[in-house]
Amino acid sequence: MASDSAATVDGSALAGRALAAAGARHMFGVVGIPVTSLASRAAAAGCRFLAFRNEQSAGYAAAAYGFLTGRPGLLLTVSGPGCVHGLAGLSHATANAWPLLMVSGSCDQRDAGRGDFQELDQIAATKPFAKLAVKAAAIADIPRLVFQALAATVAGRPGGCYLDIPSDVLHQTLAESEAASLIAEAVAAAGSADPSPPKHKSLDQGIVEAAELLRRAERPLVVVGKGAAYARAEEAIQKLVDTTGIPFLPTPMGKGVVPDVHPLSSTAARSLAIGQCDVALVVGARLNWLLHFGEPPKWSKDVKFILVDVSEDEIELRKPQVGLVGDAKRVVELLNREIKDQPFCLARSHPWVDAITKKSKDNVLKMEAQLVKDVVPFNFMTPMRIIRDAILAEGSPAPIVVSEGANTMDVGRAVLVQNEPRTRLDAGTWGTMGVGLGYCVAAAVAEPERLVVAVEGDSGFGFSAMEVETLVRYQLPVVVIVFNNNGVYGGDRRGPDELTGPYKDDPAPTSFVPGAGYHQMMEAFGGKGYLVETPDELRSALSESFRARKPAVINVTIDPYAGAESGRMQHKN
Ligand code: ADP
Repeated sequence: MASDSAATVDGSALAGRALAAAGARHMFGVVGIPVTSLASRAAAAGCRFLAFRNEQSAGYAAAAYGFLTGRPGLLLTVSGPGCVHGLAGLSHATANAWPLLMVSGSCDQRDAGRGDFQELDQIAATKPFAKLAVKAAAIADIPRLVFQALAATVAGRPGGCYLDIPSDVLHQTLAESEAASLIAEAVAAAGSADPSPPKHKSLDQGIVEAAELLRRAERPLVVVGKGAAYARAEEAIQKLVDTTGIPFLPTPMGKGVVPDVHPLSSTAARSLAIGQCDVALVVGARLNWLLHFGEPPKWSKDVKFILVDVSEDEIELRKPQVGLVGDAKRVVELLNREIKDQPFCLARSHPWVDAITKKSKDNVLKMEAQLVKDVVPFNFMTPMRIIRDAILAEGSPAPIVVSEGANTMDVGRAVLVQNEPRTRLDAGTWGTMGVGLGYCVAAAVAEPERLVVAVEGDSGFGFSAMEVETLVRYQLPVVVIVFNNNGVYGGDRRGPDELTGPYKDDPAPTSFVPGAGYHQMMEAFGGKGYLVETPDELRSALSESFRARKPAVINVTIDPYAGAESGRMQHKN
């Protein structure tokens, strides 16, 4: 180890430089022993550090950043409890197939096993949630492992990876020249890795079969998942829909890959579309609970699936009629090429398209009839319509909408309109609540030209509400709208048999302090707060805060009995 500090680099600085050399531009986290220096060294090297109040939110930020940018989101945590808090983000990223690298400091290697400060076997703790979990045992390991772990996050199905850097390694030093050559070696090794994914041997044949299946289908459907959004397949999928005339159905975060206002959108005729389609081309979406496992009664028992997924395991698991393993953008482009000379009869009037269009129109009219009424005290529909209209009035680039909560997210999914890809972030595959504020920070730094609008239930907001301070500290253009109905699902819904026993006078487990002043939390840090109860007040708060592009919380008073328990998820309770 060198002793001349002017000519040496320590582990923190080397990690910061290696991350920046690998192209990392943002890192989210919470500092403390032993990673404080790493955060500032990374920032000095060009990787901006966004300091959070809790690792959980920072992790959700890193996860969303991975989805929005297609590059791994970085999460930095301290050892022990910091790492445990970080597991929330790491696991959320893996569950959603988003690339994230969590970097944690850990206890001194010499003292491990003897009850060291914040001691934890962090490799064992992170392994169940990570595609790769590695430890730098010495400073010279750092650049290679940084590059290796970052590459693993985006290889195949994206997901979370973990890099452990013990505190003694962060404090080790080596000569400046050695640091530079270790980074150069890591850069060269990454450059020589084959960037093109292996071509699945049956892809060409599969493309032919898929095109043929679609051509002969009577009631085809394209399902667009968030994997397609991640793959930036929007142009290819829009072309497919436009040239074939096949109706499409986006999953919640697949919304916007093809604009919601496209005439072939079957969102408002979802049950008909999935219940009666005979061939479904599913692009970047798992046939999991969100898509009713691709089984009856929601789907027809005879439906034939064509699955496009970067993960071969996913295709193996679902055993579709045709499995196309590969990047969604590339596969759909190949499909477009294959069907170019075979115009589909659907290009003109077709009974299946007519049925979907009619059903959509009817359902949209029914919903608009609900939406158009100004109900005060607010139900969920009235404020959601006003918010929808304000967001649409922003035009392009469209705001990124962050959405969480039970009723708030359900109603928001139906009412809010996404016309651009990757403009909706929600609770995702795991139904994770508490993601909203972290997502907001990520969205604001990943896409600085867009306004960020979070539409949050009061419960979802509460998980990470302290991060309003983070919004103010970095002066991010984020407007957080809280649907405040005094609790999870709303008011006290306990039946008589639940209102017995020694604690019957306690507040219901679902209820919060009524009329909480969430807007005042924002004001406490110097941001703008609004309390609104009427359509005019809401419109005025939205117009002022959207124009200001500064952190704001709009606290919207909602009738506590307006929502349903669990939103529309009762069957999973
Ligand atoms: P949704 O929640 O929208 O239904 P899921 O998270 O269930 O979507 O599924 C996303 C799928 O997309 C995952 O199975 C993942 O492997 C896949 N995926 C991720 N990246 C790509 C890509 N570049 N091309 C194709 N599929 C991808």
